[in-house]
Amino acid sequence: MTTALATSDLGKRYRKTWALQDCSLAIPAGRIVALIGPNGAGKTTLLNLAVGLSRPTAGEVSVFGAAPGDDPATLSRIGFVAQDRPLYRGFTVADLLRFGAKLNPRWDDGLARTRLGRLNIPLEQKVGKLSGGQQAQVALVLVLAKRPELILLDEPVAALDPLARREFLQVLMDATVEAGMTVLLSSHLVGELERVCDYVVMLNAARVQFAGDLDAFAQGHRLLVGPRAEIEEIARVHHVVHATHTDRQTSLLVRLNGHAYDPRWDVRDPGFEEIVLAYMGRREHATETPQ
Ligand code: ATP
Repeated sequence: MTTALATSDLGKRYRKTWALQDCSLAIPAGRIVALIGPNGAGKTTLLNLAVGLSRPTAGEVSVFGAAPGDDPATLSRIGFVAQDRPLYRGFTVADLLRFGAKLNPRWDDGLARTRLGRLNIPLEQKVGKLSGGQQAQVALVLVLAKRPELILLDEPVAALDPLARREFLQVLMDATVEAGMTVLLSSHLVGELERVCDYVVMLNAARVQFAGDLDAFAQGHRLLVGPRAEIEEIARVHHVVHATHTDRQTSLLVRLNGHAYDPRWDVRDPGFEEIVLAYMGRREHATETPQ
């Protein structure tokens, strides 16, 4: 199995606060990875480190075995669309295609023109005059035409209407299958992620909470509901992701570690979104390091 993106005890600190800490991942090539976490969890920080835009404070990151910041050859294997999609607004779409062709040795102009044609985006239009959603589409087309092996997308679908979002993600899935690309996609649109991704990286408060196959994520958790109880006994066996209590009842979302349990608990399979929300709802705080 080829590893597309590997991190080992990776950390990034801004002044006193860790934006990412103790992050160890081995993302297999050819997967579509959902990068999920609440605001400020460290998703953009991880993507910026992976593309070499920022340097680790601790640990290491490599893309196909090489440090992205050190080796320009590695950069040609990576496509990145940042959260604010920085396109040159005064240029036309055709100008961007010409630049793309000049700068990227593996540029696929036919692919770019076909996809833009399908999206009805006029080549002579200035980028600044396109809608936010059209700009997002153009940014994706430019990245795909570069024919990278790893694509990193930071909240790419936020500006798209539901139909455009579906088409965008379909294009992404097709490209992954056709070209064997690996995609790492951060988004808050949990339903969309569940539909297109087959691997999950869950971050909260600068730390990786879960990394693995979508199936393991979806099937490896249970919701336990029972009379109000202390959770220590359960927590000795399973990993309690989130606990809520009312006067009479306790609800636990747990990551299974072995078989289920005690007849006192009513056991249910939680949905994907329920699991995600449980991880997001964990009260965690990024560590501060005295300077
Ligand atoms: P969102 O979903 O809101 O985009 P995120 O998961 O992408 O959030 P990051 O942007 O990686 O989160 O930020 C992680 C933490 O690092 C936050 O606490 C943020 O305030 C902090 N941070 C990020 N960039 C900087 C910076 N350049 N200087 C100082 N702190 C930063």
